[in-house]
Amino acid sequence: MPVTPFRFGPGLALKGAAAPVFSWTAFAVATVLIDCESLYYLIRQEYPVHRFLHSLVGASLVGLIAAAACHAFLRVLSVRAPQLLAPDGSASAAVRGERAGLGALLGGLAGGLSHPILDGIMHPDVRPFMPWSDRNPFLGLVSETVLHLTCVVAALIGVAGLAFWRAATRGALPERGS
Ligand SMILES: [Zn+2]
Repeated sequence: MPVTPFRFGPGLALKGAAAPVFSWTAFAVATVLIDCESLYYLIRQEYPVHRFLHSLVGASLVGLIAAAACHAFLRVLSVRAPQLLAPDGSASAAVRGERAGLGALLGGLAGGLSHPILDGIMHPDVRPFMPWSDRNPFLGLVSETVLHLTCVVAALIGVAGLAFWRAATRGALPERGS
């Protein structure tokens, strides 16, 4: 799945479930970075196109790098341009999750670890347990249609979850003020 929007659905579901402690940005950055590998080998027409970064070990490392990069970037942004992250002076639950170190770590790792599994379902050249094994137990676990549909449903659940967090935060504000 070289960088398809379906990819971001599961991340959105996790963001919707745990907005204050999960960074969707780190999830998305990890996913895109990992697919740079397959894109690189596709352009060069060298096969297999899924290699070390599409293993659980390689993808976890990319996830950690994505987490560190996103965390550093958002720290700088919250110092240099705080109004961008908290326009009315207080950050929403969703923004807090993007800014937090734990959020970046969880987002980056989830983006990394889910990648070889989701790609492994569709692509026979993915070796999730490399360098120890060439087996791909995820291959064909569900059909491509079911996989894409699940990603879309996950995205919708995530959007609903984010709406819930937004409403909950707004509902809590007047109470705090009174
Ligand atoms: Zn991929």
